[in-house]
Amino acid sequence: MDLKNLTYEVRKKGTKFIVVTGGVCSSIGKGVLVSSLGVLLKNAGYSVSVIKWDPYLNVDPGTMSPLEHGEVFVTHDGAETDLDLGHYERTLGISLSRDSSVSSGQIFKSILDGEREGKFLGKCIQLVPHVVDAIKSRLFAFALNHDVDFVLLEIGGTVGDIEGKVFLEAIRQIRSDLQPAHIFHGHLSYVPRLEWTGEVKTKPTQHSVNALKEEGLVPDCIFLRAAFAIGQQQRRKLATMCGVAEDLIFEVLTYKPVYPLFIDLQKQGVSKRIQEYFGILAAKSSNLSQWQELIDRINACKKVVKVALVAKYVGSNDPYISVIEAIKSAGYAHDVAIDIVVIDAEKLEGARNSENWDLLKSVDGIIIPGGFDKRGGEGKMAAVRWAREQNVPYLGLCLGMQVMLIEFGRSLVQLEQANTTEFDKNTPHPVISLLEEQAKVVTKGASMRLGEYACKLVPGTKSAQAYGQDVVSERHRHRYEFNNKYKAAYEAQGVVFAGLNPESGLVEIAELQGHPFMVGVQFHPEFLSSPLKPHALFKAFVGAVLEQINKK
Ligand code: GLN
Repeated sequence: MDLKNLTYEVRKKGTKFIVVTGGVCSSIGKGVLVSSLGVLLKNAGYSVSVIKWDPYLNVDPGTMSPLEHGEVFVTHDGAETDLDLGHYERTLGISLSRDSSVSSGQIFKSILDGEREGKFLGKCIQLVPHVVDAIKSRLFAFALNHDVDFVLLEIGGTVGDIEGKVFLEAIRQIRSDLQPAHIFHGHLSYVPRLEWTGEVKTKPTQHSVNALKEEGLVPDCIFLRAAFAIGQQQRRKLATMCGVAEDLIFEVLTYKPVYPLFIDLQKQGVSKRIQEYFGILAAKSSNLSQWQELIDRINACKKVVKVALVAKYVGSNDPYISVIEAIKSAGYAHDVAIDIVVIDAEKLEGARNSENWDLLKSVDGIIIPGGFDKRGGEGKMAAVRWAREQNVPYLGLCLGMQVMLIEFGRSLVQLEQANTTEFDKNTPHPVISLLEEQAKVVTKGASMRLGEYACKLVPGTKSAQAYGQDVVSERHRHRYEFNNKYKAAYEAQGVVFAGLNPESGLVEIAELQGHPFMVGVQFHPEFLSSPLKPHALFKAFVGAVLEQINKK
């Protein structure tokens, strides 16, 4: 369908759009705000879906360093996306697809591919209209493909960035294409307090709204991210300076964990005001009782248990955000708070008497998350060995399963030089290796085994018990696999292959018999865990941790 017809159809359908931009600086929580708005609307009885526009030129974040860009979240249909999609899925309890993640890279690629195919009929291709039209078309097609009352749209980056301008221009045009009553624009800004005078400053917010005005946009509402309550005087000033009604200026305070923010925004009347904007006069209120129950449960947690995340990136938790969320949620389900200690795997490579080893020795459970390349690989195997020998509950995720099986190979199966061909191409015992079809792949982008695959569970195993199901479907993101040539030798040493792909026979889950809980999975269960519905394997892991503590 061409843009004209798409626009017509969207108008006819009456989809309501809520767009969120961010000002002043990054990392002020646009993704959390969008999720929160979704929670309010969903719990008021509306259906919602979410789309993220990322102004960077990468086609997707799959090729970016997790240190720079945080975790790569994988959707059920195998798209490698921004971690914000994880926030949306977890808080809204919905499953998003590839079409929820749009980058400049994707838009430009489609334009340039089209140009080479001669689709532009001799025209000179320009940012306006061609690029902007492509952006609008993606959004409208999304709205037509998803039967929801509200489409929430987050624009990545900060207003004023060169990269974001075409996206803001698309919003400017959409406001007139759909008429204002179909799109609501909220702008999230940051309000600092000067350390040396104690003063609260609204000027950065004024500047960021001015940057929007330069693009022809006046926001319908402003959300103020701050570490403290914002006084009426500041709000009044912002209302005057920015041209936004005072009762459409809300504050977004910092909550850890974030769930009380939903209740706070509800109390401020955010959802009611949004509904009124769209002409819904009998605004429905949101039933947040499930979230309130979770908050009460968290507040009642008295016991704290320590779990190590033995990993490559230390400093920021963003590279492991879904894993961390999954562990914490599983803890709350058992009424315990989990203190997650991130240990630099590389620093476990020496003797067992360093500071990092002391840290590892102090924990009640160990998790090794997904990862790539050999840095820290030997340290991860040292942590696996510790967990195996000391009966410390262990959960290995993707690479975490691979290093677990390499360690078993070396210590239990007498394959002293067992390895993955990812770490050592010439290992004599490639217990983890590439399938032929992966060995042929030369491109880096979107070329792994991605998305959901089935896993058939072996009855009587810990995993089958945890899931309480025969077949499950889990998300993947990896190239390497357990080499089934070694299967029998492993089984002879007490390794149980508790989950297999029903079509290919590839190993999905491995467990160690006689250990309180030593489970590795080739997939990423963390992507299917949510605060209101923690994942079965994480719950079983925390259960095992608590059982071990009680035994002591
Ligand atoms: N590097 C490993 C592989 O590609 C594991 C990937 C991961 O942990 N996501 O198979």
